[in-house]
Amino acid sequence: ARPRVVVIGGGFAGASCARALALLNGDIAVTLVEPETSYIACPFSNAVLAGLRGMEAQTFGYDGFDGIALIHKRAAAVDTERRRVRLDDGTDIDYARLVLAPGIDLNFEALPGYDAAAAEIMPHAWKAGPQTLLLRDQLAAMPDGGTVVISAPANPFRCPPGPYERASLIAHYLKTAKPRSKLIILDAKDTFSKRSLFEAAWRELYPGLIEWVPLSAGGRVTEVDPATKTLVTEFGSHKADVANVIPPQRAGAIAQAAGVADRTGWCPIDPVTFESRLQPGIHVVGDAAIGGAMPKSAFSANAQAKACAAAVAALLREREPAQPKLINTCYSLVAPDYGISIAGVYQPRDGLLAEVEGAGGVSPLDAATDVRELEAVYAEDWFRTITSEVFG
Ligand code: FAD
Repeated sequence: ARPRVVVIGGGFAGASCARALALLNGDIAVTLVEPETSYIACPFSNAVLAGLRGMEAQTFGYDGFDGIALIHKRAAAVDTERRRVRLDDGTDIDYARLVLAPGIDLNFEALPGYDAAAAEIMPHAWKAGPQTLLLRDQLAAMPDGGTVVISAPANPFRCPPGPYERASLIAHYLKTAKPRSKLIILDAKDTFSKRSLFEAAWRELYPGLIEWVPLSAGGRVTEVDPATKTLVTEFGSHKADVANVIPPQRAGAIAQAAGVADRTGWCPIDPVTFESRLQPGIHVVGDAAIGGAMPKSAFSANAQAKACAAAVAALLREREPAQPKLINTCYSLVAPDYGISIAGVYQPRDGLLAEVEGAGGVSPLDAATDVRELEAVYAEDWFRTITSEVFG
């Protein structure tokens, strides 16, 4: 019988990996386990919040997964001894190798006052779907002159530039529709991805509208009160009209259940094969993995998934896996026609995925308007390209 590789999670990482495995090697039986029948993408969901885009543009199906056994169930447990996955309906699937790509869970235990019920009042919108629409509707219902508060977590978390792109696009909406309003970012960090580019753009496009409060100025949110929409920091509290609480995160629950997450909540991996440092035979890709300098992005998830698929195919043939070189680019929109980006190249070094010095870069600080316009077009092109590669 053909060896079976089971992939858990049909997001950017898992769907890419399943497809790459099926393409690379017809001798492998590939099973993809994903509970949802459609996938709602986070990239560009900040544009939905600002009323610039509909949810249909974020939604993808699983029709084009020929040659892959697709099971719309949730993986509930992994028996690492017997190499077997238990689904939530009690079915078992045996595997020769397992790829885990469950993405993130919001770590409700890490922020007092914040839980699933509080998220219905102070949405995180860090998993795209109903939460995105809830936050969008709250922004639409807010009176002019209101205060929007975004809380951003410490590193590492999904999409490092994401909170700041979100602040930018919400500011665009406020400037256009509710110009007396203001936006405060309470941050658990003293700096953030593409900071000088974001700050220069905010001065130019949204003067006086966005206030960023770093860790050292009391930005870290230590507790929230959904009843009053209050965010408490070490230096005082902020009452919001609309509160977007982006809490600390960790690898999806199945990673903890399989024993591949460590005390940080993330999954340490070998940077060549993406095999877990904690459980042989299980590989982890995408946001759930932690393997060095690579940021948690859809671009990274896709790149890691393809490298992992090649390594898994090699290992099943008892061949030496190749040393991968991985690229990440993260575009952010500061306004609908104003894009900025950061790119990096990563390769295994000292047991981690390390950045190749001098190979990456960010958009120039002094670029002309047409360059920013072009980057906004490239962002859209990137999204179209990656989603058609991953979801067909
Ligand atoms: P996910 O995409 O979350 O997929 C995980 C899948 O696993 C889900 O479909 C889930 O249903 C499934 N799953 C979970 N548990 C189980 C289980 N037990 N059994 C079976 N299936 C399970 N990245 C970029 O590159 N560019 C951007 O511009 C960008 N913008 C972003 C903006 C925002 C606001 C946010 C929040 C994120 C953004 N990202 C961006 C980051 C990107 O969305 C993530 O890095 C990416 O989705 C990670 O892919 P993943 O497959 O690891 O996780």
